[in-house]
Amino acid sequence: MKVAVISDIHANWPALEAVLADLPEVDDVVCLGDVVGYGGDPVRCLDLVRERGWLTLSGNHDLACTDDDVLGWFNEDAAVAIRWTIEQLGADRIEWLRALPPKDTREGALFVHASPRSPVFEYVMDSESAAANLNQLGVGLCFHGHSHLPGVFRMDDGWVEHDYRLGPVTLPGPALINPGSVGQPRDRDPDASYGVWNTREGTFDFRRVAYDRVAAQRSILDAGLPDRFAHRLDYGY
Ligand code: ZN
Repeated sequence: MKVAVISDIHANWPALEAVLADLPEVDDVVCLGDVVGYGGDPVRCLDLVRERGWLTLSGNHDLACTDDDVLGWFNEDAAVAIRWTIEQLGADRIEWLRALPPKDTREGALFVHASPRSPVFEYVMDSESAAANLNQLGVGLCFHGHSHLPGVFRMDDGWVEHDYRLGPVTLPGPALINPGSVGQPRDRDPDASYGVWNTREGTFDFRRVAYDRVAAQRSILDAGLPDRFAHRLDYGY
């Protein structure tokens, strides 16, 4: 079985369109959350994800649209984007966001937005947090997003290894697999990032897709959102 894993679309429609066009034949798609936030096309992105019926996990930006306490933890620019997003979405789409689960399983693997021990909020970006989460995970696989940094964390002889390269990476468990971000990459590569899990071969195929960044930037600026959200798309950071 082949499962495409996408994450952190962040209301970037041109990036989502490009990823869909690049998608090889797969049996299923899972979306790891943060469908909205930062970007200028929350309605189109949410409607597409909802219509496709993909398993979609709750991200912190999705949750901030429905929970004032969570929104209160956001920095001012990110909060501005969430308040604008709430106005665009309307009640029905907000209810869809509210109903997103924080975690779920497919084919024996765990799927979350952030981490196994804190499904919506924890950034797994270093060996310490990766080791703690790998220990909790046991022998399995966990697909997560949130950091916008693609790669695989796994244990090798008691040490945490982090591996990222394009193409299929072998996945001996336990492993934390981050497909990177569709709509706001932060690994200094501006191309949209995602991947395809091949359950039979036990591999994850990391893929990058160039997209129309100018169009994505225009929609952010036209919406009057903080312009740094537009400019950072050029740097992938
Ligand atoms: Zn995100």
